[in-house]
Amino acid sequence: EHRVVWLRNDLRLADHPALHRACDDSQAQVTALYAYTPGQWRQHDMSLVRQDFEWRQLRALATSLAELNIALVVIEANDYATLVPEIVAWCQSHQVSALYAHEAYELNEQARDKHLQQGLHAQGIATHWLHDSCIITPGQVLTGDGRFYTVFTPFKRNWLAQLAAHQVQLLPPPSKRPAPAIQSTALSASAPGLARDARQPLLDTLWPVGEREAHKRLAQFIADDGRRYKDQRDFPAINGTSTLSPYLAAGVLSARQCLVAAEQHKRHHADQQGLDTWISELCWRDFYKHILTGFPHVCRHQAFKRDTDRLPWSTHEAHFAAWCAGQTGFPIVDAAMRQLNETGWMHNRLRMIVAMFLTKDLFIDWRLGERYFMQQLIDGDLSANNGGWQWSASTGNDAAPYFRIFNPFLQSKKCDPDGAFIRQFVPELAHLDAKRIHEPHAKGRDVRLAYPLPIVDHGKARLDTLAYFKALTPP
Ligand code: FAD
Repeated sequence: EHRVVWLRNDLRLADHPALHRACDDSQAQVTALYAYTPGQWRQHDMSLVRQDFEWRQLRALATSLAELNIALVVIEANDYATLVPEIVAWCQSHQVSALYAHEAYELNEQARDKHLQQGLHAQGIATHWLHDSCIITPGQVLTGDGRFYTVFTPFKRNWLAQLAAHQVQLLPPPSKRPAPAIQSTALSASAPGLARDARQPLLDTLWPVGEREAHKRLAQFIADDGRRYKDQRDFPAINGTSTLSPYLAAGVLSARQCLVAAEQHKRHHADQQGLDTWISELCWRDFYKHILTGFPHVCRHQAFKRDTDRLPWSTHEAHFAAWCAGQTGFPIVDAAMRQLNETGWMHNRLRMIVAMFLTKDLFIDWRLGERYFMQQLIDGDLSANNGGWQWSASTGNDAAPYFRIFNPFLQSKKCDPDGAFIRQFVPELAHLDAKRIHEPHAKGRDVRLAYPLPIVDHGKARLDTLAYFKALTPP
């Protein structure tokens, strides 16, 4: 018997439900497939940094799979439409009896999987879809009357109650199998068609790949920073969050492994409320995947709150370009955008600040910001990114009403009190003291600074935005 496991955002061996199931017959031949679909990824705005990270992880995984006698075959197709017949043909010509993969929740991926299932079934090849990416499967955390939650707090209460009732069990990695009859694809050092860019040495250092590396980061975070997470997580100059998001997005780690590691640590150490706050973040991750499943119109880039699609968003191209480049004249916004452009990652508090700034101060459509983030982020993920953007733009699942508008100067003083983060990414302001650095032109334009004036007046922009939102609601 020949079984195939299609690897997607689950590039690991341990706690891998599809791989585990495919390997449950010790005599079956098991092959891992990976689909390389550059055209589709471009269409989905998948960043080059993310593509590079996945490819490096795939190479690491290929070595571990080879040690278990599992061949890794890469199938290349421009997009999902051309990929499906390729996979069917490959399975046919290699006498595959069954394909195992994890359920995808996004619309295009669901359509792809449905076509694949039809194509394979027509050839007598079975398909097995397993749940993986959420700690609790979408559709299992519902309100009393069986609906998807739209607000986080009651979702979390229900989520925690279910976890208290059923302990999460982790699956072991598969054991060594009989020698494979199929040759693995030889993987080039970088993904085909992906020029390694000037940031590569930095990216290799910041985001090393491998399951072992990911577990090392997880263990280190939990032991060293977990306790302090609650107090430290809002200060980007401190390395106070786990920086595990790229590993979770590509599935080098499962969210279950993160939860179990945190729970185990809590059991053996007192005073771990910080880890409860961290577990809440894992819950946010599940929440947005449940939202995407329950309200699929968000996959089509429609606002979660549909009436907000009537907002008269600005189309000011120069403002958008200044935001992308980190040249807005708001130091915390610029530092954050430059962190994103240089490293592929941005701290959560800063993601909220820059998203709120784009949508509430520049009044630019959240979809443009969402897209730019996907094109740059190493952890780009449709559900978390769309959820975060719509939350910030007040078009989504924020329980607070639209008048939540951050003041970027105050946020700057709060989250970067001595200006250390700004100094790191906006070197032209590095010589300013903590008082001046947040608003360098506060007392009128300082011509000695090679730094732009603020491109908007926050006070005025705030009032305009409030008026636009207010006009949506009938009196
Ligand atoms: P930690 O604080 O250590 O949290 C642990 C894990 O929980 C994260 O790795 C992540 O997987 C998950 N998580 C944390 N916060 C959130 C959240 N608010 N929503 C969903 N999951 C969360 N996260 C992404 O993974 N991909 C995205 O594309 C993404 N886009 C965002 C866009 C905006 C506008 C905003 C406001 C947030 C976005 N986030 C996104 C959520 C969050 O900012 C990142 O997950 C977090 O900064 C990653 O850093 P960390 O791993 O150190 O997080």
